[in-house]
Amino acid sequence: MRELTYLRPDDAAAAVAAVSGDPEARFLAGGTNLVDHLKLGVARPGTLVDVSRLPMDAVEEVGDLPGPLGTGLRIGANVRNSDLAADRRVRERFPVVARALLSGASGQIRNQATTGGNLLQRTRCVYFQDVTTPCNKREPGTGCSARGGHARYNAVLGASEECVTVHPSDLAVALAAVDATVVVLGPDGERRVPVADLHRLPGDRPQDDTTLRHGELITAVELPDSPGARRSGYYKARDRASYAFALVSVAAALDLAEDGTVREARIAWGGVAHKPWRATRAEEELRGRVPDEEAVRAAVRVELEAAETDDQTAYKTTLVEGATVLVLDRLRQGGPR
Ligand SMILES: Cc1cc2nc3c(=O)[nH]c(=O)nc-3n(C[C@H](O)[C@H](O)[C@H](O)COP(=O)(O)OP(=O)(O)OC[C@H]3O[C@@H](n4cnc5c(N)ncnc54)[C@H](O)[C@@H]3O)c2cc1C
Ligand code: SF4
Repeated sequence: MRELTYLRPDDAAAAVAAVSGDPEARFLAGGTNLVDHLKLGVARPGTLVDVSRLPMDAVEEVGDLPGPLGTGLRIGANVRNSDLAADRRVRERFPVVARALLSGASGQIRNQATTGGNLLQRTRCVYFQDVTTPCNKREPGTGCSARGGHARYNAVLGASEECVTVHPSDLAVALAAVDATVVVLGPDGERRVPVADLHRLPGDRPQDDTTLRHGELITAVELPDSPGARRSGYYKARDRASYAFALVSVAAALDLAEDGTVREARIAWGGVAHKPWRATRAEEELRGRVPDEEAVRAAVRVELEAAETDDQTAYKTTLVEGATVLVLDRLRQGGPR
């Protein structure tokens, strides 16, 4: 039996002080990921700092965001995944976010899971979750069991010798496609991190999933309104119709000129890398073109030039290409997203 201290501070600053001053402390929100890790022995914190009842649970209109319109929504870090997916403003102005959330987990888990916790959930790599196997992410320097092991879910972009796993959050992929920003409170005050820069590639430090420092608390996520965000959608390819993580996923936001050419396309892929992968080369290829199947396939292939696959993962590049064609076609036609 391991002793565990449980704290429930009254405000965010006290929560930050409690975690940043103690290397063995962790924030606890909905607990749907962290509590599993406590049971499995994957996480062994000395102190849990419960932030789930801090007043960070509102979806609010804001008027001072960067972006073409300046307006947007501020989502408190404790807003539950179900509530966020059901919010009328989110469904109308950021359909990609609602759809990504509804494609994840189950109704019960979405009722419990929070916005902040979802973004910071850890990888589902089977070896990471099995403490009897070597894993550089769980125990740096022990090796990577997924190399040469069960590799079907492995990354095809941006992997390293040390780690080949992928990031699991559907929400993070959607947020990357609408240029969302995470608001973070640390011991030195508040800062903002674009969602696209929140998660990192593994390099030689696979134990670090994100660019956050220990003790930094996500307090909110800001979604800037844009014409593309209104015309946005999500597609998730998976082994079962529900309750399954992505094999690959595609989030896209499309702003079209009157002649049907692309003013701006934003495309993010899930299931292919250690972070949501913004397909910026494909986006660039599509600017000024009609995004028909031929143009989208060509643009995706430019992005995938950097992909590295093997027998177990070769399907991912085919799948992500087809899924990107599908999503952009639906958005172009203005049909179901
Ligand atoms: C069976 C199952 C299926 C699932 N399927 C999917 C799926 O298909 N797609 C998907 O995206 N997800 C899926 N999930 C994952 C689920 O979405 C996450 O477990 C959940 O979103 C995590 O949120 P939480 O509030 O419970 O986080 P917690 O478990 O409380 O915390 C997760 C991590 O975030 C940290 N944290 C929490 N809040 C903050 C904060 N405000 N600031 C800083 N750090 C914080 C914690 O310290 C911890 O490290 C599934 C989970 C299960 C159990
Ligand atoms: S892929 Fe990453 S998480 Fe999985 S075993 Fe290798 S080091 Fe661990």
